[in-house]
Amino acid sequence: MDYRFSPEEEAFRQEFISWLDDNLPEGWDPSRYQNYPRDDELAAAYRAFQKRLFDAGYAGMHYPKEYGGQGRGLVHEVIVMQTLANQCLELRIPGVITFGMAAPTILYCGNEEQKSTYIPRILDGTHIWCQGFSEPNAGSDVVNVSTRAVRDGDHYIVNGQKVWTSYAHLADYCILLVRTDPDAKKHRGLSYLLLDMKLPGVEIRPIKQITGDADFNEVYMEDVRVPVSMRVGEEGDGWRIAITTLMFERVLGDATMAAAYERNIERMTQMASRVRRGGKPVIENPVFRQQLAQAYVEVMVLKYHGLRNLSHQLQGGIPGPEGSIGKLLWSEPNQRITEAALAMQGPGGQVMRGSPWSIQDGFWQYAFLRAKGNTIEAGTSEIQRNIIGERVLGLPKDSSRAARQ
Ligand SMILES: Cc1cc2nc3c(=O)[nH]c(=O)nc-3n(C[C@H](O)[C@H](O)[C@H](O)COP(=O)(O)OP(=O)(O)OC[C@H]3O[C@@H](n4cnc5c(N)ncnc54)[C@H](O)[C@@H]3O)c2cc1C
Repeated sequence: MDYRFSPEEEAFRQEFISWLDDNLPEGWDPSRYQNYPRDDELAAAYRAFQKRLFDAGYAGMHYPKEYGGQGRGLVHEVIVMQTLANQCLELRIPGVITFGMAAPTILYCGNEEQKSTYIPRILDGTHIWCQGFSEPNAGSDVVNVSTRAVRDGDHYIVNGQKVWTSYAHLADYCILLVRTDPDAKKHRGLSYLLLDMKLPGVEIRPIKQITGDADFNEVYMEDVRVPVSMRVGEEGDGWRIAITTLMFERVLGDATMAAAYERNIERMTQMASRVRRGGKPVIENPVFRQQLAQAYVEVMVLKYHGLRNLSHQLQGGIPGPEGSIGKLLWSEPNQRITEAALAMQGPGGQVMRGSPWSIQDGFWQYAFLRAKGNTIEAGTSEIQRNIIGERVLGLPKDSSRAARQ
């Protein structure tokens, strides 16, 4: 097994790195933590930068040319995603769901009109998407979705409430899981719609997080008329579509997270060399040295797990429930790493971003707080362990769920 890039792929990687050097936004310094104080500024910076990538032929490397992509395959996509995550992750944030979920859903499961309308506008940065799956009574048990879509001629009339909808306040469209048949067995009654967030009856209410940001929202829908042409797949096929697309995109997610964390390990090493406690740089403290080494090991495990999955997929393998391992490998270590980084700072760990005395622009304070959500978003750690236990290891079904079915 050889995980190295071929000479052609490595040449492409170098070409992209040097293009990025010249094309990051004015004043951008990849070694520093960049913070956009206002979300609309971040969204505007995201759109402008995505357009720049698109114009230069670096957007959608594995998307077909007829939809505005480059038609070059998954490895080139991974190279671009990894390089971006390493150099300018903050600039990519509003596109996480757009590229991680909406684009692959439309590509793998959408009809011709949906693909040719929405994929080019995702790739060139025109549209930002959000994901409306979770509801007050449907999180881990997302099959409980109760937002109703009732057919009325060429439209569905949608009523209900979503919650924790990340970037809904910035989004142009939403991938929306709705119940079209209340009488069918739970997952069979679900359908998958593409919702225009500007339609009358859509109301967005921000929720403030522990970080102080309001990245996610409640989304209320009252008599929203969604054209039937905005349904992906057949009526009642929503659950299958949601699961399939998630599994296909996990491999890109793992590779991207590993690249971002490699940058964080560099940051942490620099910090440990500069911050002094008890008159010595903390890197000389044996406990912190152990933590730094442990952090590096965990990031390497994630990296090679991602490469193994990529290799499997390139050989025609279909991604399966083992994708849950990657979710655990990026979410849990990130909590440990950010906690260790704050401990290294000692009393300085209390100084938040925005203060002239903050260490490394307050990156670790923000990252520590944000990491708390990592083991909840995209499926909690408990749920991932259930999936691994039941569907990878073949253990008996989780008794609490078995009892309810
Ligand atoms: C930062 C962040 C961003 C998010 N963004 C989005 C988004 O954009 N769109 C979207 O739709 N959702 C989003 N979510 C919601 C997320 O998907 C849900 O929070 C998650 O699926 C858990 O659902 P819940 O919050 O309803 O918790 P619950 O499902 O109520 O779970 C509560 C607790 O019970 C545990 N639990 C539940 N069932 C079992 C079981 N069978 N066995 C063992 N333990 C169990 C869980 O692990 C958890 O600890 C986001 C969440 C976060 C934190």
